[in-house]
Amino acid sequence: MPARILDGTALAQQIRTELGDRVARFTQEAGRPPGLGVVLVGDNAGSEIYVRNKLRAAVEAGFRADLERLPATATLDDVLALVARLNGSADHDGVLVQAPLPPGVGAGAAQAVFEAIDPAKDVDGLHPVNVGYLVQNRARLVPCTPSGIIELLDRSGIVIAGARAVVIGRSDIVGKPMALLLLHRHATVTICHSKTRDLAAVAAEADILVAAIGHAALVRRAFVKPGATVIDVGANRLTDPGAARDLFGAGSARMAAFERRGSAVVGDVHPEVAEVAGAMTPVPGGVGPLTIAMLMSNTLRAAELSRSRRSR
Ligand code: NAP
Repeated sequence: MPARILDGTALAQQIRTELGDRVARFTQEAGRPPGLGVVLVGDNAGSEIYVRNKLRAAVEAGFRADLERLPATATLDDVLALVARLNGSADHDGVLVQAPLPPGVGAGAAQAVFEAIDPAKDVDGLHPVNVGYLVQNRARLVPCTPSGIIELLDRSGIVIAGARAVVIGRSDIVGKPMALLLLHRHATVTICHSKTRDLAAVAAEADILVAAIGHAALVRRAFVKPGATVIDVGANRLTDPGAARDLFGAGSARMAAFERRGSAVVGDVHPEVAEVAGAMTPVPGGVGPLTIAMLMSNTLRAAELSRSRRSR
């Protein structure tokens, strides 16, 4: 039986609808809507799309959303000055700096920038203070992609406690926080990476397998225990027609779309996995929309926390 498809678009819509009452209450009590400031440095095409989607979702959710742009020639000091202004703004509850920063900003700049964001406004959850809270299982603001995946598992009735979970990828933004969230929910967690020996065999022990690799279709049938839940975080742009034909099959609707556009976004999980998994997320329409819904949730949470701190 083919895997149950976990529809991230529908769940994300449900989460955003649920936030509506809280947004209205905050706006009435604070006399202003929750505010999100997004910093975009340079002209990376992918970042432009991600930022546009985030801003659109914020406006649709009833937030104030401001895009603050800097040119690719900006220095680290320019970025830090902008972050400092947003930290001090009474209209912005959330601040996020879209990664990656252009190389001209300097090596190690991303870390310096994330550390400069006020932890109370750090809606990407990357400040060391928020990372520390997460490690200690008293999370405040958690990276959006892994927290969206936990929502997806919960709302899909997939039991985490006691499950064997394997996370492929150890980035600060996805892999590591994902592993911690699963651990705090009592899964038995293994983290894999590019040096893991016999990756397929380790992955095949998982009841819940999360692929956050950035390598198109790396996860094949042999990586998956029959009946497992497979979460595909990958968002890889495919431009090779041969590779697209292998993945989508000649004459398929997705191949026709690829031929029209000249590219397609594909996950880290090969489509053949649907024949063995019990449930899996599609790409697109899986983890991506949930990430944006959780950004809205984090911004609202930051707004509510700052208001309750001020009224104390
Ligand atoms: P990243 O920082 O590049 O990390 C990738 C991880 O995968 C690293 O830990 C790396 O291992 C590991 N890896 C690479 N090749 C591997 C291999 N052959 N076998 C095993 N492990 C391997 O990427 P990221 O930021 O976590 O993102 C991962 C993917 O998720 C990307 O496709 C990204 O576009 C996508 N993404 C999607 C969303 C969304 O909302 N849908 C959000 C964030 C990211 P090492 O540490 O050993 O190098």
